Amino acid sequence: MLRIGLTGGIGSGKSTVAAQLQALGAGLVDTDAIARQLTAPGGRAMPAIAEAFGTEAVAADGSLDRERMRALAFGDPTAKARLQALLHPLIGEECERQAAAHGDVPALVFDVPLLVESRRWRERVDRVLVIDTSEDTQLRRVVARSGWPADTVRAVITQQATRAERRAVADAVIHNEELGLDDLALSVQSLWQRWVSLGLR
Ligand code: ATP
Repeated sequence: MLRIGLTGGIGSGKSTVAAQLQALGAGLVDTDAIARQLTAPGGRAMPAIAEAFGTEAVAADGSLDRERMRALAFGDPTAKARLQALLHPLIGEECERQAAAHGDVPALVFDVPLLVESRRWRERVDRVLVIDTSEDTQLRRVVARSGWPADTVRAVITQQATRAERRAVADAVIHNEELGLDDLALSVQSLWQRWVSLGLR
């Protein structure tokens, strides 16, 4: 079974491509969703977070207080890395549990926004698929979807890996720029044919 790591910047179209791969028969493991579950009220990461950062990092409902965590990270540059170090093993465990639960699928797709930043993640997958989109398009899509101010979206894009860094680790790149959703699906199908049906690189 082929393990595909799917990545791309904010608003590049990862979730859209993930859904198209699922429609072709892939099992999907969404690391963002897993991170949200782990830090939701009663989430498995919450006791360790309370221990490491104090109860002020925990909101009244028992979830991670993201606003407070951002403030902590602002005053203490190690806080973000410590939170990630705490979450990563739990995310890894849950990914493997979900991967096993998918059973006998022809391919497993791991949607990992930080794949380029994490060598450990790249070692867990057989192929890396990068969804590449210009920053203007990312900005337009995210503003349309979330209503965030353009400057907020620009700040997120700046913090993420660059397009060149992503392309450097890619086994395949899908340019999701002028493609409509139907054409995007055709690109995804042709990649599926090559990688999964024919077993080619
Ligand atoms: P995030 O990292 O923020 O979760 P993402 O990379 O998963 O984003 P998507 O949610 O798949 O990106 O796409 C962002 C938005 O752009 C969505 O509203 C999606 O429907 C739209 N979109 C993506 N690709 C296309 C396309 N080829 N044509 C039209 N709309 C698109």
